[in-house]
Amino acid sequence: MPKRKAGEDDGDYTTDWLVISKQYRAKQGFKCEFCSVDLSNHTRLLHTHHKNGVKTDNHYSNLQALCIDCHKKQPSHGKMFVRHEDMQLITRLRQEQKKDNQGLGWDNIFNIADTGVHGVLHLCRSKNRPPPIVGYAIQDANGIVVAQLELAWPSTKFGVAISVNDLEIARSNGWKAFSMMEALEALDRR
Ligand SMILES: [Zn+2]
Ligand SMILES: [Zn+2]
Repeated sequence: MPKRKAGEDDGDYTTDWLVISKQYRAKQGFKCEFCSVDLSNHTRLLHTHHKNGVKTDNHYSNLQALCIDCHKKQPSHGKMFVRHEDMQLITRLRQEQKKDNQGLGWDNIFNIADTGVHGVLHLCRSKNRPPPIVGYAIQDANGIVVAQLELAWPSTKFGVAISVNDLEIARSNGWKAFSMMEALEALDRR
């Protein structure tokens, strides 16, 4: 039986879990298997997920290395807490590494985008528009992230955001920023 120290909350895991998890993530090159973000320099933001939900089933076929953002989007993981700073860091790394991600197919785009914007994605694809960048951080002159777009086409400065605050800031930074509903209407007219 696994021994547990008082106050520890990892009773569901096997005692060798930390070692297995680290070895597995190393084997994946510390990249998220969903969105491909490379977290070699931020390994704490990369989790090892049990696909079947059984935390003692550590066969590699049951494991998946996921960044905390993609991990949170797995079924019954909605309560997982992701700090805003960590989310911003992941967004920034995805952008910095996007040279590798360029040419992401529509299927991958759907995987990493919030389900709330899938309607817009479907319409864009049906209208043969180029795939957007998912999760685009708008930065001010000092490189501070001031707003976040769910979807962005930087060449035309067209973007879709969910929060009203992000929309306002994006617009004041020269973006044609649309809410989900506005984007659907605008695309439909073209
Ligand atoms: Zn990810
Ligand atoms: Zn998980």
